[in-house]
Amino acid sequence: MTEINDMTPGVAGLQTRLVIETITQVVPGAEIVEIVASLDESISGFDAESWAAPGTEHALVHIRKRVVGILGVQNAISSFSCVVSGVAWGVLVEPIALQDGAVIGALVVARQGRVWSSRERALTRAFGGLLSHTVTLASRESALLDQRRLDELVGMVAERLMSASSRNRQDVLTWTTRVLAEFLGADVAFLRRNDHQRGLSILEAEWPPRDIPRPDPLGEVPFDADPVFAATKNLRKPYLAGVDGEVDYLERVEKGSGVPLVGGACVPLLLSESTWGVLGFLHFGLHKWTVEELSALQAIASMLVQLQARIDAEERTEYIALHDDLTGLPNRRSLLRELEVRLAAHRETAILFFDLDRFKVMNDFLGHASGDRVLTTIADRIRTSIRPNDFAARLGGDEFVILVGDVGSEMEVAATAYRLLGVIGEPIDFAGQEVTHTASIGIVLSTPGMKNGIELLGWADVALYAAKRQGRNQAVVFDEVLRESVSERSRTELTLREAIEGDGLRLHYQPEVDLRTGKLLAVEALVRWQHPTRGLLPASAFITVAEETGLVVDMGRWVFAEACRQLAAWRREYPDLPLVVRVNMSPAQFVISGLVEFVENCLRVHRIPGERLCIEMTEHAVLQEPEQTARILQGFQALGVEVAIDDFGTGYASFTELKHLPVNFLKLDQTFVQGINSDPSDKAIVEAIIQLGRALDLGVIAEGIECSATIDKLLELGCHRGQGYLMSVPMSPDELAPVLRAGAIEISKFRPAGKVAPALSERSL
Ligand code: C2E
Ligand code: MG
Ligand code: MG
Repeated sequence: MTEINDMTPGVAGLQTRLVIETITQVVPGAEIVEIVASLDESISGFDAESWAAPGTEHALVHIRKRVVGILGVQNAISSFSCVVSGVAWGVLVEPIALQDGAVIGALVVARQGRVWSSRERALTRAFGGLLSHTVTLASRESALLDQRRLDELVGMVAERLMSASSRNRQDVLTWTTRVLAEFLGADVAFLRRNDHQRGLSILEAEWPPRDIPRPDPLGEVPFDADPVFAATKNLRKPYLAGVDGEVDYLERVEKGSGVPLVGGACVPLLLSESTWGVLGFLHFGLHKWTVEELSALQAIASMLVQLQARIDAEERTEYIALHDDLTGLPNRRSLLRELEVRLAAHRETAILFFDLDRFKVMNDFLGHASGDRVLTTIADRIRTSIRPNDFAARLGGDEFVILVGDVGSEMEVAATAYRLLGVIGEPIDFAGQEVTHTASIGIVLSTPGMKNGIELLGWADVALYAAKRQGRNQAVVFDEVLRESVSERSRTELTLREAIEGDGLRLHYQPEVDLRTGKLLAVEALVRWQHPTRGLLPASAFITVAEETGLVVDMGRWVFAEACRQLAAWRREYPDLPLVVRVNMSPAQFVISGLVEFVENCLRVHRIPGERLCIEMTEHAVLQEPEQTARILQGFQALGVEVAIDDFGTGYASFTELKHLPVNFLKLDQTFVQGINSDPSDKAIVEAIIQLGRALDLGVIAEGIECSATIDKLLELGCHRGQGYLMSVPMSPDELAPVLRAGAIEISKFRPAGKVAPALSERSL
């Protein structure tokens, strides 16, 4: 509120002093000249309290400390006389008004005895007018000043809010309440958030700090607690709370802050549809809010909403980055972060790494939507069965990890793991049909000083695979034996890398023959490693390491190029032999781009027609990236290169998947072939695959033939292509030379004498 008196600084104060001096000179005998230019305050002689109280709008005129009159805003009297201590006084009153006519004070001139002449009255009026003018100017000036200060305040808050993030949000909000409280002279400032779902107003930040009672009556307050909180629920414009009729509210504030009588204001933080919360201020006693203050606060409120929206968006992005879409559990990145924090704090942690047994089969069988339901159900079960100090994450697929805090003994951790296996393994209901499943768990206990979370996870993974190998549905703790196997594996990895980069690999070739005639149909290239200390190793001794470490990609390139080089040499040496070389490729090779181009290039360099080569791939490669694999296979087909599905029957490739892929051969897995005469189900599988081959017009090759009875059975079932130790082990090119020269092996050697080969029957022709 603008105030002028002889102490007012600037032009207004100067003019006021001038008026007072001039009046005493031009109005002879004027003893008391009083100016009240604000209805809030008074200079000597006026009772500020009574004038300022809302609704009263009057002031008392004192002479010699005695009340002689009451000045009202609406009915300002122009003059009166009175007697004080036996002395008569004449009092002249001139209203001081703003330009819009609002009376905001009065010029009072009093002197003893004499009657006022009309000149004196006119002069006083003129001075009143002058003061009105002065106060108008002063109020404009101070409004401008106030506005500038408010603008500065808004600017300062804006700058701070702009640089805030979710990390320092709390500090910035508290800082904002402090700055606003100080600027507005408020005794308390606070920011509350509306939780519309729970029907609560929640304290977010406040100033000054207080001793918070427990429970805090101001912490989370239901909207229906009292009319003030009810008003904040859907507040759309500033709300000014007085002292009347809000008894409940005042009691609550008193209980929470110890402050009895307050007046307050709430400015809403508006989201488009709803009220996000309120920015509130309390004054002990009363405070008159100006329109400018309230609109500055509204501006700040809207910046706070923007800040919150930005932080929400940041948090959402962060949430997405750290959580798994499907189950809502933390993801791998979040797990590693948590693990690192725990390790850094030397908190003993057990890692339980688990994986559903045969999830892939279940997923294929039930369909993806139901597979997802299995995963979300299991995630929910994990969430509800872990303790507050545990941390659960989904790594992807059917792999979950639980970090168990406060670990006791290894036995206790194992007990926890088995308890979880029980919870997870409970059947899941699909529309009345119960689906049962099990899981396996690998456990690692962190040791003091262990820092590398990724390494720990790797160990848990090793233990998990041990659990799978040992028959699934169990938990295995990573121990010394497993640790030794890991180091053994890293040593293998190291030397294998050297072998691939150097000259350590060889290719051996195993003949595939017509079981009826012994005619050589193809050779399968099988990689061998000339190990520096362990001698020549078969692929089975190192292919898993190569696949797990990714070395198989480089190895595969060497194998294919070498097979092409060798085939080109043989084609020169045995130009009449229509030899086909079959080369194995691992799933990892199918995900690396440029495979078809690489094959094409090798064929061109060695001038080999595509149909002389056949790529063997397992069902896993078919299944892992079906679309990309299909594209690659089409690329091979365009080059004339044939494709065989190796170890067929062990994976889960379905008839429909095969039907759409350009595949030429199915290779019966050797376990079925070897059981063909002893195990009826092996025989049934072989029979079914041979029939599938017929239906799809695919050649069927039996591998792993170790005895002559197998040949008979295969021929009886209609399969006449075969390879196996019985006829020939894989051999080096030199060792293979006699077979190549003959273009056949002597098959009759391996058949019981005198037996008529069904090969000659019509069916197999
Ligand atoms: P595969 O492709 O199914 O190869 C057949 C495996 O069975 C070979 O083992 C072979 O030596 C062995 N074998 C052949 N006949 C018989 C038999 O009558 N009885 C028995 N018990 N085994 C027989 P190897 O060479 O150790 O290869 C194992 C697996 O490693 C191969 O299975 C193939 O999947 C993979 N592999 C071999 N060479 C390569 C390669 O160059 N690249 C890739 N990616 N994988 C390869
Ligand atoms: Mg093979
Ligand atoms: Mg095989």
